[in-house]
Amino acid sequence: MFAITKKRPERGVWDNEVAEAPPPGFGEVRIGVAKAGICGTDYHIYSWDPWSAGRVRPPLTMGHEFVGQVDAVGAGVGHIEIGDRVSCESHIACGHCGQCRTGRAHLCANTQIIGVDRAGCFTEAITVPAVNVWKVHPDIPNHHAAVFDPVGNAMHTATAIGVTGRDVLIVGAGSIGLFAIAIARAHGARSITVQEPNSYRAELAGEIGADLVLDPGDLDAMARWRERPTEWRPDAVLEMSGHGPAINAALKDARNGADVSLLGLAPGPVEINLSEDVIMRGLTLHGITGRRMFETWYEVEAFMLQAPDLMDKVVTHVMPAREYAKGFQLMDQGACGKIVLDFASMQGRAA
Ligand code: ZN
Repeated sequence: MFAITKKRPERGVWDNEVAEAPPPGFGEVRIGVAKAGICGTDYHIYSWDPWSAGRVRPPLTMGHEFVGQVDAVGAGVGHIEIGDRVSCESHIACGHCGQCRTGRAHLCANTQIIGVDRAGCFTEAITVPAVNVWKVHPDIPNHHAAVFDPVGNAMHTATAIGVTGRDVLIVGAGSIGLFAIAIARAHGARSITVQEPNSYRAELAGEIGADLVLDPGDLDAMARWRERPTEWRPDAVLEMSGHGPAINAALKDARNGADVSLLGLAPGPVEINLSEDVIMRGLTLHGITGRRMFETWYEVEAFMLQAPDLMDKVVTHVMPAREYAKGFQLMDQGACGKIVLDFASMQGRAA
């Protein structure tokens, strides 16, 4: 099978011929991949930053957000049939630990992530546990269904603290930040301020529904924003950048008593002034990982059905899978929202 892989432990990504996806074992299904999104995580692996160098063991088929059609069903699977159009939760939890058994499988310490810890979806077919599979609503098109997973990250970051009626600050408008703008708008935020240095993404942020987009490098604009009355300071912060100085600034800019939802992964430890910026000001920090299984998936389904126009604005590129190098190049330049790769048409299947 054609596959987009991390072949060697260095910067880059390569295509490769890999063995066929194995036939599904007990409780598993095999899915013919139709479309797959390139995630920030894939970009980390492409860049071979310290996080990916410490975790990923090449050679590895990359990718973890996708949609496709079930082409084989293993023994013991009763609820999924050949031909079902499905997406997939990329975190494979163990199912038997205390977290899994108390409805918190996104916090399972035994989690394996598709395309990080085991073979990913940037290929023609993938075999996964049936419990991870999500049947896609017939009204959601494939170029949206391919990105259930990252929209779920944005949704989980927003719903963990709640954004309805609140003054929301979104730090970083990569694709998950862009999805978060759309979600905050759809959930009735009072105001949405976005901080993003990249001009392409800043413009997209405005089109998607941000009330104010600030370039953190524009010190005059930032100073003017900080002069606003305290009751207009953000009380719901969605941190998507993983950038230490931006995290510190966001804590200082937040209103007393604000909730801060942290999704962006910093490349190393981040120093914060816990006493001054968190404790004395009554902030609540929430670490966000993955998606709630499967509450978040129901929320994302509802959002995709209600806001296909906003989804279309964030998914800026759909390109043939063989042109993946161009996709990673666009991410390098920050000249894209979400990029979706098409694997179906190269196999002569419906996209
Ligand atoms: Zn578990």
